[in-house]
Amino acid sequence: SGQEQREFDYFKLALQWPGTICQGNHRCCASNGCCQGSNSLSEFTIHGLWPDYNDGSWPACCNGPRYDSKEISTLTDVLKKYWPSLSCSKSSTCHGGKGTFWAHEWEKHGTCCSPVIRDEYSYFLTAINVYSKYNVTQVLNEAGYLPSNSEKYPLGGIIAAIQNAFHATPELQCKGGAVEELRLCFFKDFKPRDCISEPHIKSYLVASSSCPKYVSLPDVQA
Ligand code: 5GP
Ligand code: 5GP
Repeated sequence: SGQEQREFDYFKLALQWPGTICQGNHRCCASNGCCQGSNSLSEFTIHGLWPDYNDGSWPACCNGPRYDSKEISTLTDVLKKYWPSLSCSKSSTCHGGKGTFWAHEWEKHGTCCSPVIRDEYSYFLTAINVYSKYNVTQVLNEAGYLPSNSEKYPLGGIIAAIQNAFHATPELQCKGGAVEELRLCFFKDFKPRDCISEPHIKSYLVASSSCPKYVSLPDVQA
């Protein structure tokens, strides 16, 4: 069960790009419908809202109530659309069991958001609100970075588009040259901040070092 942890320093909103996660994953996606159907696949969806420390580490599996799907029953429709699981296997929970993606994220990360967020409902509602307010997909589309299976875009251009819109530096994670995740960082009052703790010239690229100079935003293949 959970550990007593010191209070976190800032939030990281981790977003995932379905077109990258679903590449090579077609059978899984077809069987549970995760990469097709209800949710739009040409936009970032939520991976999790994560509390972090300024030294680059983070707390996990803190003391707090276990996941209870009933707590978020009024949010389920919205969560299915914007926080879908793109994996076909069940997720581990903090207590040795298996559960949904939502159970995993609440128990691993959500329980460590105290004292800013103290309950499961607030955790999911807050994540949805922040995700809606800082619309990364819209910012990238308006800057000309559209889903494509042929184009490659400059990593620096994608980072600059987010910086211009939100006045803070994101962190990107790539897989095989494609954007897999884009993470936005926030102070505890949800004002945007950089995802790097020691800003200096060019350091924004360090936070995204798994990405090459030119990256793709793949469309989900039909
Ligand atoms: P990955 O190795 O795919 O980046 O991350 C694996 C897992 O480690 C994530 O699902 C997440 O639970 C945790 N993790 C990775 N990076 C961070 C981070 O910067 N902050 C927090 N809080 N968790 C992270
Ligand atoms: P993390 O610890 O990286 O926050 O969460 C990753 C865990 O959630 C893994 O155990 C993974 O199997 C499970 N999971 C379920 N659905 C998804 C999904 O759509 N994306 C990611 N990254 N992990 C998922």
